[in-house]
Amino acid sequence: MILPMYIFGQPVLRKVAEAIDPATYPNLQELITNMFETLKRSEGVGLAAPQVGLPIRMFIIDLDVISEDEPAYKGYLHTFINPEILEESEETSSMEEGCLSIPGIHESVKRPEEVLVKYIDENLQQQERWLTGFEARVFQHEFDHLDGKMFVDHLSAFRKQLIKSKLIAMTKGKFSASYKCKANR
Ligand SMILES: [Zn+2]
Repeated sequence: MILPMYIFGQPVLRKVAEAIDPATYPNLQELITNMFETLKRSEGVGLAAPQVGLPIRMFIIDLDVISEDEPAYKGYLHTFINPEILEESEETSSMEEGCLSIPGIHESVKRPEEVLVKYIDENLQQQERWLTGFEARVFQHEFDHLDGKMFVDHLSAFRKQLIKSKLIAMTKGKFSASYKCKANR
């Protein structure tokens, strides 16, 4: 089932999400399946639960969609429950990011190049490992969503000023997206 994408301005995107007990959370597998279907339809690489209206600490990442260019990501479809960032590298890198909840805006964001993360995976196993490159970048973008943060918060005051009117318009439902959205329209 395709879920509606909550758009910038929807309060759930600014909430600090709650940890869940994956063993008892109702219909978790169904939610994960629906999130992957929703992500595929919207042609994104990551989707956090708050983006589909649920303030819980969980996100999914699909890097299989870029595996033609990056064969190492073939079959990469993963779920991250109650994730934590334990350490960050001092080295940073900048890359252009977009967000399914902020359609039409793409900006360069600086983030740590590598992160040591801990999470519960789709098989409900505890994982702890260093992420690097694009995987680290997407993880950090999605992780932000669980703390009510979005990539535009990382921009300089100057860049923020440049996109301000677009963001205000978005909160009033003025934007275009090719997928089902929940917005003030
Ligand atoms: Zn996002």
